[in-house]
Amino acid sequence: MSEDRTNVGGVAVATGHFINNVRVSSHATFEDRSPLDWSLKLADVARGTARDAEMAVSAALDAFPAWAALSTKQRAKYLHRLADLIDENVERIATVECLDMAMLVESLRLRVIPRAARNFRAYADLAESYEPRQWASNGTHNMVLRMPAGPTVVITPWNAPFMLSTWKCAPALAAGNTVVLKPAEWSPLSCSLLMDLVLEAEFPPGVFNLVQGMGDEVGASLVAEARVRRISFTGSPETGRRIGVAAAKNLVPFTAELGGKGPFVVFADADLDLATEKATLMYDDAGQVCLAGTRLIVEASIRDDFLERLTNLTEQHVLGDSRDRDTTISPLIHPDHFARVEGFVQRSLAAGDTLLFGGERLKDDGLWFEPTLIEPRDNDAEIVQREVFGPVLTLQTFESEAEAIELANSTKYGLTAMVFTSDQKKADRFGQSVRAGTIWVNCFLVRDLTAPFGGIGISGVGREGGDYALDFYSDLKTYQVKEETTNG
Ligand code: NAD
Repeated sequence: MSEDRTNVGGVAVATGHFINNVRVSSHATFEDRSPLDWSLKLADVARGTARDAEMAVSAALDAFPAWAALSTKQRAKYLHRLADLIDENVERIATVECLDMAMLVESLRLRVIPRAARNFRAYADLAESYEPRQWASNGTHNMVLRMPAGPTVVITPWNAPFMLSTWKCAPALAAGNTVVLKPAEWSPLSCSLLMDLVLEAEFPPGVFNLVQGMGDEVGASLVAEARVRRISFTGSPETGRRIGVAAAKNLVPFTAELGGKGPFVVFADADLDLATEKATLMYDDAGQVCLAGTRLIVEASIRDDFLERLTNLTEQHVLGDSRDRDTTISPLIHPDHFARVEGFVQRSLAAGDTLLFGGERLKDDGLWFEPTLIEPRDNDAEIVQREVFGPVLTLQTFESEAEAIELANSTKYGLTAMVFTSDQKKADRFGQSVRAGTIWVNCFLVRDLTAPFGGIGISGVGREGGDYALDFYSDLKTYQVKEETTNG
């Protein structure tokens, strides 16, 4: 056991696992570098093994009965304390996450990290205010009870690691489960800071654990654990399938929030200023956002007007260091991911798609890729059908409402969809017909934490958010009492 820490932008970050409220190191480590300057090594992070996974699950299993036995009010106190500590440490967390995954520091400070605190508060309150469904039937009084399910494994991706991890851990903990979190190996550091706060909030040992390491090593060991009772995953459809197979082997319920290829549909009657302003947001975080509407599908009569406005707005984007306030587009996370994004663009252009703007890396020595817009030769083009997860959008046109809906539904994904129109009835028809877990009309990225969230098709399995998440992390029981039963 050790307390290895490394200095990341002036913040001391522990590089080990966190099991039973103690930092644990591994014999092997992996290098974590900054996308802002790839020559900058941030840390040598513990590279977890099957043994570490086993230890963490044992800790979560041992801690489970006492945590599950607390009232929702008692658990809520811990969660609120953790939320307060996140708010008090926004600056430190934002500094580390900015260096580690290159998200804009202003966005982290103002939006993303405070949202993590809100995740804990919202689920604490929701679990506490649960009112079981009750009804009478067949001479019995019926009630739906929630019972904590057990140790829960949470596996998260490299984009927005702090917020996305808390989005899943908060409901699991509020529901009375203990947690083992494994963040992604490309941005592991901010979740380590979260464990410092777990300790400061005096969570009982073993309630909230963290293991670091590779997906196909410690990640695979965690999801293969028969003692785990829930698995919650966010990441790519490919990994989602693998985790689904592992979960099925032990009959463990799992949810998977997976990739997206959202349609962004603009009708001729839309407020074009609003639509183009929202369209340019699709380049935020260098397009590494699962919810983004990356397929721009506009009515043919406004195509040129829309393109001119979008081009003008996109020219105002500033590619730069994510720590600078003026920067609007950060670098991509990793050289491998950069090569993947660049490969999509090169194959698209080689196959005959048309480049409308962008398409190049910004400088030879960095991971910045220009905001790019491509007009595909047809709807089957790879650039339309597969998630790029970079600053690359496509532009397609439609002639009729039916064609707009057909194009919107023409991929295997179904995470989000956006539609811009001034006609409420048209929007409602779109909302009814389009296959996506979330549909935004004349807006983007408005989130209500009590709403169900998840994907259709290869964008996900199951729903989290609000009571949907608390139900998932619980075993629901039907409790039936014959009506004449008396007290005593
Ligand atoms: P990924 O699937 O490569 O990795 C995600 C996590 O899974 C990482 O922690 C990784 O270590 C782990 N992992 C990999 N193989 C594993 C295995 N065999 N067993 C257990 N764990 C394993 O995804 P990524 O590249 O980190 O993230 C990008 C993807 O995530 C994109 O497709 C994006 O759309 C998606 N995403 C979805 C949402 C959503 O809410 N739907 C949110 C953010 C990101």
